[in-house]
Amino acid sequence: MRLVSFGDPGHERPGVVVGNEILDIAESRPGWPASWRRILMENLWPEVESMVAGAGKGGDLPSVPLGSVRLGAPIPDPSKIVAIGLNYRDHAEEQNKQPPEVPLLFSKAPSCLIGPNDPIVLPADEVENQVDAEAELCVVIGTRAKNVRREDAISHVLGYTAFNDVSGRAAQYGDRQWFRGKSFDTFGPCGPWIVTKEALGDPSGLSLESYWGDTRMQAGNTSNLIHDVPALIAYVSKQMTLEPGDLIATGTPSGVGVFREPKVFLQRGTTVRIRLEKVGELINLVL
Ligand code: MN
Repeated sequence: MRLVSFGDPGHERPGVVVGNEILDIAESRPGWPASWRRILMENLWPEVESMVAGAGKGGDLPSVPLGSVRLGAPIPDPSKIVAIGLNYRDHAEEQNKQPPEVPLLFSKAPSCLIGPNDPIVLPADEVENQVDAEAELCVVIGTRAKNVRREDAISHVLGYTAFNDVSGRAAQYGDRQWFRGKSFDTFGPCGPWIVTKEALGDPSGLSLESYWGDTRMQAGNTSNLIHDVPALIAYVSKQMTLEPGDLIATGTPSGVGVFREPKVFLQRGTTVRIRLEKVGELINLVL
């Protein structure tokens, strides 16, 4: 199943992609909350599954054409975005750092999230003038997870999506920590949809690429994650409760702009594409 949130910014509604249509979940179930996060929190997910299973069998659910609406971030309002630093060996090597023995956690403000075709808006040059992009596999949590074991971790996953951990390097390295550089408005392109874990299968072995215009910047594979998805969920859930809808951005492979010689940063007018196998593409114009 592919899950989207569609509509105007701040007013997205949950939907399920079926063919070239989006089933409008909130319209189909009056009284339900109009957000994936709250549907998950209220344990309505099994009803979504049966609703969608029935949709192809003479069901008559309200829908809109996929191409006719704006897609937002699939979870526009998570309680948190947990991001992982230095989680690909090649990315640690390109900055001459030892891979961390336990996952290195940092946070991005949920307010940075944008949809899969929304523009990335560069801050004024005097605020941040070294903006970079990072292609990432993003895990979406489906059920509350606290102190879970590695072998139980995937049972808490709803699915997977693509993420661009847009990063202001001047702020990231100029400050003593990363929160500001990682959290400028629009620095969290996500989507285009969540592919449920049943549909996607094993999240290791997925190719993960980024392009700036026609230039391929990153060509990685999730099989090279140092701490894999079950390990990340187990570790994070020992530090803090993972809530339904929370996002874990699992880290980026080598090839980012700041570690190139010479360094390169995003320019206005460039289109950034993040391509994740079995999920799809994020395509965001830099303004
Ligand atoms: Mn990152």
